[in-house]
Amino acid sequence: MEKKLIRSCSIWRALEVVGDVPILLILEVSLLGGKRFDEFRRRTGLFKALLSDRLGRLVKAGLMEKRLYCESPPRYEYLMTEMGQGLYWTGLMLLRWEKKWQVEDKIGVELTHRNCGKTFDPVPACGHCSEEIDPTRVTWSEGPGLGWMKPLYSRRRKSRESMSNTTSLMDQAAQIMGDRWGSLIMRSIYTGVNRFDDIRADTAIATNILSERLAWLTDFGMIRQRQYNSNPPRYEYRLRRKGVDYYHALLMLMQWGDKYFVAPEGPPLLLTHEECGHDLNPQVICSECREPVSFRDVSYRIIDCNPELGSDLGNDSISRAAS
Ligand SMILES: [Zn+2]
Ligand SMILES: [Zn+2]
Repeated sequence: MEKKLIRSCSIWRALEVVGDVPILLILEVSLLGGKRFDEFRRRTGLFKALLSDRLGRLVKAGLMEKRLYCESPPRYEYLMTEMGQGLYWTGLMLLRWEKKWQVEDKIGVELTHRNCGKTFDPVPACGHCSEEIDPTRVTWSEGPGLGWMKPLYSRRRKSRESMSNTTSLMDQAAQIMGDRWGSLIMRSIYTGVNRFDDIRADTAIATNILSERLAWLTDFGMIRQRQYNSNPPRYEYRLRRKGVDYYHALLMLMQWGDKYFVAPEGPPLLLTHEECGHDLNPQVICSECREPVSFRDVSYRIIDCNPELGSDLGNDSISRAAS
């Protein structure tokens, strides 16, 4: 019997929870202050049954709690737990990436840091030297918790349907992070595993699915294919700028995974920031005051660049602050 194992990794464990497009859309609404079922429904465009299923999963996984806010008739709201709020930096990095790479202006978000009172851009920075993290200046090595695990690939359908008529702030970002295979392939490439056969061994993804996902990531502009041997033809995959930029989102997700799904031995991967030589403890800081930003310190303003698409964003969502 062929035994297929992959490197155990916090990214993989975290993706088990958040590697799903509807889940990411719900988290986005929640991180921007949404609480109630109808609000999630309106903002995500998800069908009732699907929304209800995913909210249930989020509660079960410990990212949200369900709270009664009206006795009769009974009505519930969904609030982020501390664990859910821990995804805030990942969310900010996804927003940043989307803003940079979105194909057309749809809707955007303006962030204000209450601590300094300024509108800001979230910047991924090293917790030690505070410099912005350049993905090419981070070294990965095996940590004490590195092991091999048997991946359980559920036969989930790809959820890549167009979300153009929803008011999501992160169409592309949700597609990438919402595809666990795609994100796992990106992890391999970030850690220097570039060749088809090596990626297959690293991820234990079936050959046909791997080919399909590599083609998808190539079309998406994340990676490019390069032939390194002509007879027989062999290919390797290199990051394009768009793929390099996505690194910060996966990095923050890994940090979250390290915190909540940690192996008793310690983290599976250790990162070193070459600029300062210290272990990389990534943070998201405010571009204006350079302080780390937290969920509670940021207010939002949704900017509608295309009124036709964003028309169902009611006034209530303008200038909404997370509470
Ligand atoms: Zn540093
Ligand atoms: Zn600030």
